[in-house]
Amino acid sequence: MNWFRVRTPGKPFRVPASPLNRPPVNVSAEFPESFEHPLLPHDVWMRQALAEAQAAFEEGEVPVGAVVVFEGRVIAAAHNQRETLNDPTAHAEMIAITQAAEALQSWRLLDCALYVTLEPCPMCAGAIVQARIPTVIYGTTDPKGGACHTLYQITSDPRLNHQSAVLGGVLKEECREILQAFFAHQRAQGKK
Ligand SMILES: [Zn+2]
Repeated sequence: MNWFRVRTPGKPFRVPASPLNRPPVNVSAEFPESFEHPLLPHDVWMRQALAEAQAAFEEGEVPVGAVVVFEGRVIAAAHNQRETLNDPTAHAEMIAITQAAEALQSWRLLDCALYVTLEPCPMCAGAIVQARIPTVIYGTTDPKGGACHTLYQITSDPRLNHQSAVLGGVLKEECREILQAFFAHQRAQGKK
């Protein structure tokens, strides 16, 4: 597997020298063993997030999907709805976090794992911290907005009062391809 991991709580935090010239992230020993459960591989949940991304695609939305898993089941599933709702905050993660909080009747999403097809942006990374989500698994990195690893490491910053374990690169090809297909489709239709 080509997954890569971002630092988890309790470990020294280093800002990469440059997003384009970053040393390989290798903190494999830090990721919770429980999330390597052989019967529930990350792919299973990420495929559900990808199904959400596909729904976004069909609605003309940038195809990003997210699910929140709690005690081995999905308690929230959402996709980007920025266009549909005319809401700049309607990212997949934001909607999924709200759904999960409603499902658990708590703003603290303890023991939850967020799966999202694209590396969260600064807004969503901030919401992940606010929701105290302990585990974040994402698909493809976002060189223009990634805030868990690529441009910022908001979910791992020890100056904030919560840090998440972050695992990136799960089904990254599929997660990237659906975005590329969407933008190619948009260009073909003369949209930006
Ligand atoms: Zn976002």
